[in-house]
Amino acid sequence: MSSLAEQDPLIANAIEKEIDRQRRNIVLIASENYASRAVLEAQGSALTNKYAEGYPGRRYYGSCEFVDIAEGSAIERSKELFGAQHSNVQPHSGATANLEAYAAICEPGDTIMGLRLDQGGHLTHGSPVNFSSKIYNFVAYGLNQETEQLDYEEIAALAKQTKPKVIVAGYTAYPRTIDFAKFKEISDEVGAILMVDMAHISGLVASGVHPSPVPYASIVTSTTHKSLRGPRGAFILCDEEYQRNVDRAVFPYAQGGPLMHAIAAKAVCFNEALSADFKRYGESIVENAQAMASALEGSGLRIVSGGTDNHLMLVDLRPINLTGSEAEDALGKVGITANKNAIPNDPQPPRITSGLRLGTPAITSRGFGVEESQKVAQLIVQTLNEKDDPEQLKIIADEVSQLTASFPVPGIDY
Ligand SMILES: *Cc1c(COP(=O)(O)O)cnc(C)c1O
Repeated sequence: MSSLAEQDPLIANAIEKEIDRQRRNIVLIASENYASRAVLEAQGSALTNKYAEGYPGRRYYGSCEFVDIAEGSAIERSKELFGAQHSNVQPHSGATANLEAYAAICEPGDTIMGLRLDQGGHLTHGSPVNFSSKIYNFVAYGLNQETEQLDYEEIAALAKQTKPKVIVAGYTAYPRTIDFAKFKEISDEVGAILMVDMAHISGLVASGVHPSPVPYASIVTSTTHKSLRGPRGAFILCDEEYQRNVDRAVFPYAQGGPLMHAIAAKAVCFNEALSADFKRYGESIVENAQAMASALEGSGLRIVSGGTDNHLMLVDLRPINLTGSEAEDALGKVGITANKNAIPNDPQPPRITSGLRLGTPAITSRGFGVEESQKVAQLIVQTLNEKDDPEQLKIIADEVSQLTASFPVPGIDY
């Protein structure tokens, strides 16, 4: 049988090029990471050939005894990792997991409270172009104007006024610790169910550097591919009370056959996250983010909310008169990958923005420490200052190459 390179050189070449890009760039996209070789092997395995609708021991197809081992392990390991009563590891993605979580606890038309999208919420938390706002009545809470942080008094007041069925906490661009106990208190006061979407921070929760939502939230959704460093996919944790509803919302309500190869890779990821190394990894992510944020601030940029407690920071580019899209383009030219991002109360439209979102999970996976993170901050500042000087950019790009060449990428340069 022919290999991919022989049979389909176009696709083989695209994959090779992408692998090389991942190796040579400094990846600062806060939602990206490098999965381990073991995760990639499981995800690329022949388990993709198996149909296994249903759940371990209760399948609609025969011969599921081996995929049951994979899924059973993923369930048990995720429960152990997060101390949850129930886990469903079948959701194909974070967006799908949220669709399923809402379906498990709400009826169409119910009111759900989530963070404003332009202040760090996710599309599935009520965007007009997303299913969430078409099925449910979303009410948005915002950040405090001055602190640029969650304002629990305002959230409580809005909850009293709008009486939501569900309150959603957990975000895509929020650099501070979330007080889940406060959210639980607010939810209890108005009789709402607390749902947490920990997609971005689940690796930090697993390693103990961010408080866990599991003791407070009735239902918790998460991706597996962000700070948790697993395969692309998601899972849902919940209290026993919602177990049946969650399982039925995933299958047969929203999904058909589970991706058994992805589920096997999730099992590998949860096992990795249970290790002492992973705890150290989480600590290092935060140290690196704080070092980078301080260095950027020291060079005259403004860090939204004054800093970071987690894996990401939002940089306000207005002090140097640049927009997010200009900065994203300039950094791309030197091999630094980051995304433009709205800052709270951004005067620019979403396609332009005034901010950059920078995250450290990926660089920390390849072994960058505090010193390298400070160096990256310096390269960012130089790039933004010299963005119209091609010769300077070339010099910076060479420095990026030198830096990345000394840090092999897990999963790729094994
Ligand atoms: C990334 C993210 C999602 C969506 O995950 P996908 O796998 O891209 O669908 C949902 N919620 C939050 C908070 C996220 O950050």
